[in-house]
Amino acid sequence: MHGGCPYHCRVEHVGDHPDTENYGQLAAAVQSVRIAGRVTRRLQQSLQGSFLTKEDRSPVTVADYAAQALVSLTLPPGEAIVGEETAEALGAAEGREILDQVVQAVRSELPDVTAADVRAAIDRCSDPGGASGRFWVLDPIDGTKGFLRGDQYAIALGLMEDGAVVGGVLGCPNLPSDAGRGCLFVAARGRGAWELPFDEDRGPARRVGVSAVAASGDAAFCESAEAMHSDRDRHARIAVRLGVSAPPVRMDSQCKYGAIARGDASIYLRLPSSRTYREKIWDHAAGFIVVSEAGGAVTDAYGRNLDFSLGRTLDGNRGVVATNGLLHGMVLDAAAAVLPRNPEL
Ligand code: AMP
Ligand code: MG
Repeated sequence: MHGGCPYHCRVEHVGDHPDTENYGQLAAAVQSVRIAGRVTRRLQQSLQGSFLTKEDRSPVTVADYAAQALVSLTLPPGEAIVGEETAEALGAAEGREILDQVVQAVRSELPDVTAADVRAAIDRCSDPGGASGRFWVLDPIDGTKGFLRGDQYAIALGLMEDGAVVGGVLGCPNLPSDAGRGCLFVAARGRGAWELPFDEDRGPARRVGVSAVAASGDAAFCESAEAMHSDRDRHARIAVRLGVSAPPVRMDSQCKYGAIARGDASIYLRLPSSRTYREKIWDHAAGFIVVSEAGGAVTDAYGRNLDFSLGRTLDGNRGVVATNGLLHGMVLDAAAAVLPRNPEL
């Protein structure tokens, strides 16, 4: 991609949106996530399109690539992006068919793009991240396995400045909301967290806040729908210690952060499933700021602040715990009782 991409004019006018004052510079990001979401919704409905298996054996679909390309093509030009996907596999012989499908999907929103534009837009997202400057953090389809099952997934876009998350847009195309199916959370540091209908014309934004549940026994807790992504046995032991009797709400993607932010649940547990896994910044940046601005608390499983300044992974952290804030200390105490004392073990 080059500086003056003509597609950018499509999002320059969203500053007129009546709710823009609540999330300022994130208006363009909201528009990008909506555009990508329109395409991923169509792809999920038809579940057309093949998928590739990445080196870490996780699936990547036409929708992951198309969403990354669309966000990259519609965000302001010249800004750095740390994105989950690379276009490498699309250049190989077995990736040709996928590339054709990705280009077709992107053209449903941006009719004039070429295959070269799409590959360049995906590869634009290769920023290493780190502790300085301003960059976006993108998970084009968070919860790909949920997406493939027809369940929840998220398009997650965070904004970082000098090592800290300062904004986020969390698109949840399948999460129920008052306005129907699909919602979008937006948060900017110091400005609160807001929920909008996923579709632009469905109504105004509303400010969201975490639950007021102060007795742990009354809390609902959520965890990943994928058993391999966290330590369910330890979650169950934490639930027993806290007197939580309701069964866990299992949900894919950062929609779990959305659920905490608007008070559907009060605890999100993501205890490490292995010693070696490192959480990825794109799996948490947008969700982190949404919950933080909704009045909740987010730390790692040992109570340490999440450090987004170390590159593409949360290298200094293990697992994640998000709560409504009121319960955070109790949950961390229970986690400490079931976790190895040394995070490295
Ligand atoms: P969730 O939908 O909450 O299960 O989270 C989906 C994300 O989990 C994916 O985007 C992956 O990056 C990430 N993931 C993959 N393997 C693991 C693992 N072993 N532990 C934690 N997260 C993982
Ligand atoms: Mg993800």
